[in-house]
Amino acid sequence: MNIPFIDLKQQYQALQSQIQIRINAVLEHGQYIMGPEVKELEVALADYTRSKYCITVASGTEALLISLMALNIQQGDEVITTPFTFVATVEVIVLLGAIPVFVDIEPDTCNIDVSLIEAKITERTRAIIPVGLYGQPPDMDEINAIAARHGGISVIEDGAQSFGATYKGNKSCNLSTIGCTSFFPSKPLGCYGDGGAIFTNDDSIAEACREIRVHGQSQRYVHTRIGVGGRMDTMQCAIILAKLERFAWEVEQRIAIGQRYNTLLDELGIVRVQQRPDRNSVFAQYTFFFDQRKALQLRLAELGIPSAVHYPVPLNEQPAYKHLCCSDCTPIARKISQTVISLPMGPDLSADDQLYIVNALLPSGGSINS
Ligand SMILES: *Cc1c(COP(=O)(O)O)cnc(C)c1O
Repeated sequence: MNIPFIDLKQQYQALQSQIQIRINAVLEHGQYIMGPEVKELEVALADYTRSKYCITVASGTEALLISLMALNIQQGDEVITTPFTFVATVEVIVLLGAIPVFVDIEPDTCNIDVSLIEAKITERTRAIIPVGLYGQPPDMDEINAIAARHGGISVIEDGAQSFGATYKGNKSCNLSTIGCTSFFPSKPLGCYGDGGAIFTNDDSIAEACREIRVHGQSQRYVHTRIGVGGRMDTMQCAIILAKLERFAWEVEQRIAIGQRYNTLLDELGIVRVQQRPDRNSVFAQYTFFFDQRKALQLRLAELGIPSAVHYPVPLNEQPAYKHLCCSDCTPIARKISQTVISLPMGPDLSADDQLYIVNALLPSGGSINS
């Protein structure tokens, strides 16, 4: 038995002909940068999320960076976020000379604990970046309300893991001022390289993002602001267009498979990440808590089951960032980082493989077969 952590091969096989047709079309027209598929994808994704604007960019990291630049976040500004996320969320804040202010997480969802946000707001707070960790949107209504109450604070949803998820009936990435996502291959909607997108309903933010994406250019060789080289290439947009045909089905599968993991782990009495009833996670990762994590990972590996840790160290304890925070300012994130473990997950994970994986969590020999 050798189960892939994320099975991209089966997905490719299911979509092979559509992907080939899309790739060939790009090779034929040869507009590798800003070709027609870029606009076509932006229209399709804006439609999918019911956002007014979608701006594709080179990666999820670039989406976050360009969003902060579009909001004119500068040296000394404070941006509130979670320490329990992929490094990119915090990296972009620091790159602009702004200060990340870390708020601890909820121990059951691992998303930012909104009850702790308000105490961290100062007159220098300019933005909040909540993350839809493991594919589940955070408490966006409460976060938006806090931002509105204090005035002048923008909310950027980092939806790199939650594209396709819903929150109170609305799509992730269209839940606040700006939504950002990533098309890294292992994300819920992945391309075959790097890619990302920014979503907004605000005309001037959309215009700023478009200009910043191409070196702050408003017209050819007129640079009205400082920008970056942040375009997503035509080939990657074409691949996502082909993948969109299957995406609604994949989201349904992810939810069904995630819920089946929930049922099976609950039967075993294993404590897992919880989902709130008013939203759907797309289970970018399937994650639970386990005290003897190292031993479990070794046992799973022997049985051909890969596992991963998202994330082993909170960002405010990483060497590059630890000077930004006192030593124990987010105790829940620290505690959770020591026990989280993620299992193989994806729309093509078979019911048999899933049962094999869950049975391997039992210390010895037992089995369940629902
Ligand atoms: C993957 C990820 C990013 C960065 O996306 P890239 O496309 O790899 O640059 C940002 N934030 C979170 C939460 C992520 O999981």
